[in-house]
Amino acid sequence: MGMPRDYDVLVIGGGMVGATLTCALADQPLRIGIVEAVPFQDKDQPSYDDRGLALALASQRVLAGLGLWDRVSQEANPIRHVHVSDRGQFGFVRMDAATVGVDALGYVVLARTLGKILTERFTALDNVEVFCPARLQGIRVYESRAEVSVRLDRESVKLTTRLLVGADGTASEVRRLLRLTARKRDYGQTAIVANVTPQRPRHNTAFERFTDTGPLALLPLSETRAALVWTLQRGAVDGVMAMDEQSFLGGLEGQFGRRLGRFYRLGQRKSYPLCRLEAKQQVLPRVVMLGNAAHTVHPNAAQGLNLGLRDVAALAEVICDAIRDGQDPGAEPCLKRYLASRRTDQQWVISFTDGLAGLFYNDDLFRMLVRDIGMLGLDLIPPFKRRFMRQVMGLVGRQPRLVRGLAL
Ligand SMILES: Cc1cc2nc3c(=O)[nH]c(=O)nc-3n(C[C@H](O)[C@H](O)[C@H](O)COP(=O)(O)OP(=O)(O)OC[C@H]3O[C@@H](n4cnc5c(N)ncnc54)[C@H](O)[C@@H]3O)c2cc1C
Repeated sequence: MGMPRDYDVLVIGGGMVGATLTCALADQPLRIGIVEAVPFQDKDQPSYDDRGLALALASQRVLAGLGLWDRVSQEANPIRHVHVSDRGQFGFVRMDAATVGVDALGYVVLARTLGKILTERFTALDNVEVFCPARLQGIRVYESRAEVSVRLDRESVKLTTRLLVGADGTASEVRRLLRLTARKRDYGQTAIVANVTPQRPRHNTAFERFTDTGPLALLPLSETRAALVWTLQRGAVDGVMAMDEQSFLGGLEGQFGRRLGRFYRLGQRKSYPLCRLEAKQQVLPRVVMLGNAAHTVHPNAAQGLNLGLRDVAALAEVICDAIRDGQDPGAEPCLKRYLASRRTDQQWVISFTDGLAGLFYNDDLFRMLVRDIGMLGLDLIPPFKRRFMRQVMGLVGRQPRLVRGLAL
């Protein structure tokens, strides 16, 4: 097995969150290792698939601060308006970028495209060593180092690090090996994702429509193409996945209505069972959990990756400050500072998405009334609306330097 290779930071999981952290730290005087199980360009790469992702304005700022936005913006489509409605009820909310004085509320980009840009950045760097395809096998935590064994080809490799980052997704092996417990709730719902072409142009509008079968979102990938996220009760999913193209698009029209005319050209469908997960402990000496491995949320408000990117910005800031001050970035006080700065934002996103999942997935008359009055109130009271919009854009509360447009 030979002498272990030693790193300042070792990231397990090269998905969108682990890859962004690696890009954020790559300009620092740090030796970084990144371990990913599935090759980045593989068609089965679980993080970098054909999902259209809504990136909030705070995420755009993080990527801009890392010098990545110029490339992402060439492939991203701005969201200037959001239209939220409750099918068959009176509630609706309209949001416009102009209301909060910004050019766009966010941007839509394919996960695969974002993955290509992120991974191309760090694979070219001398201070970043990539282990891929490689799988985590074991972890031991000592006072000054964590030691990790990784399966690479048929060989077992030993790596040591001052800071181990668990960014290996909802079913995190890092969490399991370290026996970190998590609160988990299965929503009993599954999201079907596919790209479709509506008859009418999109005018940079994102639609979220709550229906009796579950919420349905259409994000503007371009003027002619839309990314559909259709959430259904799990029992209904097999039937909808098995439908031929015409029946699927007909069913979609039945739920969404004819606001965008008819739907054509259905792309490949993929389904994602939905759960909420919250690690009870996100940091311990030498270890920090990040992204879906720390908290997985319902995609109903497109918040998961956006929250993960704000966590990345805050963690990178704490690590950079520690290095500049000659401190140990893997020591517990440093990691606790990171966590303290993120608690409020994380709790808001977890409660908000969970609340939406309960409130809008329900045909109880009282809840329907509450949600529709709430939506109208939000639409009609400008200060509430502005505050809410800034919150979902990730611009409320204590913000990491990158989100404020400052350098790391
Ligand atoms: C249908 C759907 C739509 C969504 N839309 C949005 C949206 O519009 N906006 C938004 O902000 N968020 C959205 N999200 C949430 C977003 O997808 C997640 O927040 C994001 O993928 C989290 O990234 P991650 O890197 O933490 O985890 P993942 O994306 O799960 O990546 C984990 C990585 O770790 C690797 N890995 C796993 N185990 C190991 C191991 N043992 N060893 C080595 N590597 C390992 C995996 O191969 C993978 O590459 C959506 C989610 C879903 C399900």
